[in-house]
Amino acid sequence: MTTENKDGFSTRAVHKGRGFAGTTGAVMPPVFMTSTFQKDNPDGFDYTRSGNPNFRLLEESLASLEGAQFATCFASGVSAITAVISCLKSGDVVLAEENIYGCTYRLLERVFNKFGLVTRYFDLSQPSHWEEIRRQKPAVVWLESPTNPLLKVLDIAGISAVAAGVGATVVVDNTFASPYLQRPLELGATLSLSSTTKYVNGHSDCLGGIVATNDTTWHKRMRFAQKSLGLQPSPFDAWLTTRGQRTLALRMERHCANALELARWLETRRGVRRVSYPFLPSHPQYELARRQMKAGSGILVAEFDCSTEAALEFCRKLRLFTLAESLGGVESLVCHPPTMTHAQVPAEVRHKVGIGDGLIRFSVGIEDVEDLRHDIDQALTAVLEAGGTKLRRASASASPSQREPRAKKSRSIGSSQ
Ligand SMILES: *Cc1c(COP(=O)(O)O)cnc(C)c1O
Repeated sequence: MTTENKDGFSTRAVHKGRGFAGTTGAVMPPVFMTSTFQKDNPDGFDYTRSGNPNFRLLEESLASLEGAQFATCFASGVSAITAVISCLKSGDVVLAEENIYGCTYRLLERVFNKFGLVTRYFDLSQPSHWEEIRRQKPAVVWLESPTNPLLKVLDIAGISAVAAGVGATVVVDNTFASPYLQRPLELGATLSLSSTTKYVNGHSDCLGGIVATNDTTWHKRMRFAQKSLGLQPSPFDAWLTTRGQRTLALRMERHCANALELARWLETRRGVRRVSYPFLPSHPQYELARRQMKAGSGILVAEFDCSTEAALEFCRKLRLFTLAESLGGVESLVCHPPTMTHAQVPAEVRHKVGIGDGLIRFSVGIEDVEDLRHDIDQALTAVLEAGGTKLRRASASASPSQREPRAKKSRSIGSSQ
C-alpha cells in the first residue's frame, strides 16, 4: 500500500487497513478466523489473543485516523476502558468529569474501587474546577466530550495543559464525536478512546473499542492488557469495523447535517422546552464546540413539555426512530434517558442536573432529513396535542421517587446500562 500520512482523512480511511492478501490479488482483506499460528511465521503472529491480521489492519487504520502512532483494538468500548483503568494501582486517584458514561462509572465504583482506586467527580465544563487537578494530582484525568446525555462540551486542550503540569495522563472518551470530528491527541490528550460500536463502525452490527496514543509506554500497556486480560475482539468483528470505518467521513457529514437541521427546527417547535446540540448558538459551550469539533455530531437532545408517560408514548409513535439503547448507526434511534440509560439515577439527582421527565435523546441517522422531521412532527402532534396535558396531570399525582429504583451512590449522573 502506498498511502501516506499527508493523504486526507477519507483517503486514509479507504486505503489504510488493507493487506494480507497473499498471492490472491484480493482488494479487501480476508477474515482470519484462526485461534493460533504456525511458529516462526514471517509476520510474527502466535495466538489470536495477542494479535491477528484483522486486528493489525484495524489498528493501522484507526491510528491513522486519530493522528496517532499507535492503536490497540478491544472487544468493546468497555473492554478498552477496562484496559486503561487496569494499568492503575491501589491508592491512585482518577479525576473524572461527573457526566461520564454510566458503564465507566460502574467500572470505577463497583469493580476498581474494590482494589483501592479512588475516583472523584467534577463538572469539568467549569474552568474553576480545573484547580482540583492541581490540588489532587490524579494519575488520570478522565474526560468525555460531548457527554451523554447532556452533550456538555469539555475544553480538551485547556484541561490537558493543566494536567500536563502535574504529570497526569489525560484520557478522552471520543465516542460521541469520532475521530472525524475531533482528534483528542492533537489537543494534548495522552489517550483517545472510542467505543467503535457507535460511529466508527456505524452499522450497529458489532461491538468494539480502540485506544490510540503517541505514548510508547501507554502503547505497551495497551498491548499487554489486550492479551493478559483477554480483551481482544473477534477477528470477524475487527474485519467488520475496518469495513465500517471506510465510510466514516461520509456518514458523519450526513449525521451532522441531519442533526443540525432537526435541532434548528425543534428549537422553534411548539411543545419543545429546550434543545441541546453543540452547534446551536444556544448551547452553553457553542464557541468551544466550534473550535474543537469539525461539526456537531449526530446526537441531539430535546426536552418536551410533557410527562414520562407522554415521552414514552412519543417514542412509540415514531416510525423511523427505533426505541433502543446505543447510537451512531446509519439508522435513527431514540432513547428516553430517565427510564432507560439513567433509570438507576434517583429522580432528584436527574432533575437537578437537567435530565427531566420529558427528555428525549435522538441518535440521528443518515436517512432523508425530511422524513425524519415529518416523523418527529407527527409523533409530537399526536402526543402533545391529543393527550399530553392529561398525561402530565396523571403523572404529577404519582410521586416519581416511588417508581424510580434508588441507586446507592447519587454522585454520578452517568447511565448504568
Ligand atoms: C457505548 C459507549 C461506551 C461503551 O462501549 P461498548 O462498545 O458498548 O462497550 C463507552 N463510552 C461511551 C461514550 C459510549 O457511548
